[in-house]
Amino acid sequence: MFGTMMTQALTTGSLIAHAEKYHAGTEIVSVETDGTKARTTWGAVGANARRIKAALDGLGVSGGARCATIAWNNRRHLELYFGIGAGGRVTHTINPRLTPEQMIYILNHAADEVLFLDRTFLPVAAKLGEHLKTVKHYVLMGSRDEDAAAQVEGLLFYDELVAAADPAAGWPDLDEYAPAALCYTSGTTGNPKGVQYSHRSLVLHSIGGNQPDGLNIAARDTVMPVVPMFHVNAWGVPYIAASVGSKLVMPGPNLDGESLARLIDAEQVTLSLGVPTIWMGLLAALKTTGINPTSMKRTVVGGSALPPSMIRDFRDGYGVELIHAWGMTETSPLGTLNQLLQKHDGLSEDAQAKLREGQGRPPWGVELRIVDEDGAELPCDGETQGELQIRGHWVVESYFGQEGSALTSNGWFDTGDVATLDGDGYMVIRDRSKDIIKSGGEWISTVELENIAIAHPKIANAAAIAAHHPKWDERPVIVAVAAEGETPDEADVLASYEGKVAQWQVPDRVIFVDDLPLGATGKVLKNKLREAYGNVLLEEA
Ligand code: ADP
Repeated sequence: MFGTMMTQALTTGSLIAHAEKYHAGTEIVSVETDGTKARTTWGAVGANARRIKAALDGLGVSGGARCATIAWNNRRHLELYFGIGAGGRVTHTINPRLTPEQMIYILNHAADEVLFLDRTFLPVAAKLGEHLKTVKHYVLMGSRDEDAAAQVEGLLFYDELVAAADPAAGWPDLDEYAPAALCYTSGTTGNPKGVQYSHRSLVLHSIGGNQPDGLNIAARDTVMPVVPMFHVNAWGVPYIAASVGSKLVMPGPNLDGESLARLIDAEQVTLSLGVPTIWMGLLAALKTTGINPTSMKRTVVGGSALPPSMIRDFRDGYGVELIHAWGMTETSPLGTLNQLLQKHDGLSEDAQAKLREGQGRPPWGVELRIVDEDGAELPCDGETQGELQIRGHWVVESYFGQEGSALTSNGWFDTGDVATLDGDGYMVIRDRSKDIIKSGGEWISTVELENIAIAHPKIANAAAIAAHHPKWDERPVIVAVAAEGETPDEADVLASYEGKVAQWQVPDRVIFVDDLPLGATGKVLKNKLREAYGNVLLEEA
């Protein structure tokens, strides 16, 4: 047949092959597990990834097998992303903050054949060992270490595997629909569920999520993913960075504000990505250290709601543009990103900041809609709120090892979030459906209540929960952590709601605690708070 175009499978091997060929000299900076800084390049990372592929072949690891990692963001982890996945196996990243029971469940459920570990997590592996049914090889991500060898029988060493292997000649021709990576949801309710990303979905996510109105990462950028590589593929950054050949700065284990501030400064980071708590830490450290991150132009924030003051703190204090994004494990994760349109140019800075507090719009490749309790589509008027659904090239269809579809009968994925959408697709998350407060049949947004509490100068962090109420069914209660050295007063905090929300939405109580319980991905565990404080209003009544 004449008149056709070439066909090439969309594989993750094509991404690393591009970086190795056209960006061979571009640096990858890696903070190692012991805190030292190492420097390598895309050329060396590509070659090592091909060595890992050959080493796994040599160990007899089956094609398509899951190979797990429990590791920080560092260059060996980057090599494994491609050495395992692009080599025809599945990179299964495991969140080290899960409980041992959850890790055992996940490793057995995924039937991982190999477990790669950073030194930090060796004690965890030693404990899990006897419960793991399928793992044949344990590999320490470093050089030979006799002390470590004594803790895990038959322990292999990454650097020895790499040194002994001849790099695979190239990347195999794989079916683009074949799986390349696996990540489990954090399982705050029930057992964690596995989402398996295909080569095709990862490549389309890289292209679709990195458009100019998306992450917009270029070869000339220096990108620091603080979001962990064990949390939805560090939001896709390793794949995106390979596709464009940007310099990467991998922060390793030290994610406190001061370490990050020094790293940004030393490596001239232009763009960074992470959850709000990370940026709260960074902002505090910039103040105490006096470091001005002049190289940094943009910061991407997502994973949980953004405290609105953060946009202004970055913009006014340091000239950094904050880009709010939304997504989930099931959506690879990029679902929306917040960049403004041409028509917003004339708006005041405050009006623009207000727009940017929302989670933004879907890039090409995914579509959003909101529906009511019966699944009927609701209007995109920026006011009506409903259950958020998504579909697209990088959205889950079914969970790993679970029978049946994960979708609604008409092919959408129910996110479990409650949101508004406007005519341009700007989305604002109002709640998660299981966290929402229903007072006398009316919904109250916990996000809105939390933002007001966090804006109070004497409060460091706060969560709004539904507490049982004899008359209204549920009423809002704030559980708050005081700012350092402050003793906030309940009446004073409640007074700060005046004029900001309707009178009936003002919380009934503020309870002060030392810490909020956090889950494995750093989000507040509201179910724990409901267990602890869900009955306070009944007890008082
Ligand atoms: P888990 O569901 O286990 O917490 P995910 O990382 O997949 O793990 O979390 C996805 C959820 O996180 C979304 O459904 C949403 O509730 C919340 N989320 C993510 N990004 C944002 C954001 N920018 N604003 C508010 N909530 C967010």
